[in-house]
Amino acid sequence: MSTLSLPSTVTVVDHPLVRVKLARLRDERTSSADFRTNAHGLAALLAFAATRDLPTVAEKIRTPLAECDGARFERPIVFAPILRAGLGMAEGILSFFGDAGVAHIGMRRDETTHLPASYYFNAPSNLADADVIVVDPMLATGHSASETIAKLKAAGARRIRFICFLSAPEGIAHLTSAHPDVPIFTGSVDVRLDERAYIVPGLGDAGDRYFGTVPA
Ligand code: URA
Repeated sequence: MSTLSLPSTVTVVDHPLVRVKLARLRDERTSSADFRTNAHGLAALLAFAATRDLPTVAEKIRTPLAECDGARFERPIVFAPILRAGLGMAEGILSFFGDAGVAHIGMRRDETTHLPASYYFNAPSNLADADVIVVDPMLATGHSASETIAKLKAAGARRIRFICFLSAPEGIAHLTSAHPDVPIFTGSVDVRLDERAYIVPGLGDAGDRYFGTVPA
């Protein structure tokens, strides 16, 4: 998919640090330790891009020297990592968003049908008031993301964004048609899905590479 034909709700986050960190993640020689470090940094960069228009409220604060203008977020922020690979992104993001809540969403992918099955959902009670940011490194078929967002909406969420390291054209098409109100922030739009619904060229299995587990 050329960036010219992307839906207007999709932002490919274009920054040299994003390109460099993505290259480290894609490289098959990258160790789990380096994969984790780069995943944390890349997740934070994408979260910055995805939150740059969130409203803040002015407030007066006192430094040790004088009073001055400060700011706080107008609404609570909730990050919603899709288990398990989304956990690695959340770890990188939460060191910058200390006050954010976390919703854990368990989605298992059936390796034959490639369809998601939900096995866990645990979200803070303030979803309706919050800016909710779903995090999953790979937007492949888009089914897990779409199902996750449907569950969050059913639990009250009204303002949802989605961030991922890599996306496939198929995943973007599915997610934007199921949830046209959800902006997508991605590090890259790759070429295609293979027959196992892995993103090509992609980076392989994000969870296996992050956690150092053996591919199934
Ligand atoms: N999940 C992954 O970890 N990698 C892919 O390429 C697709 C889904």
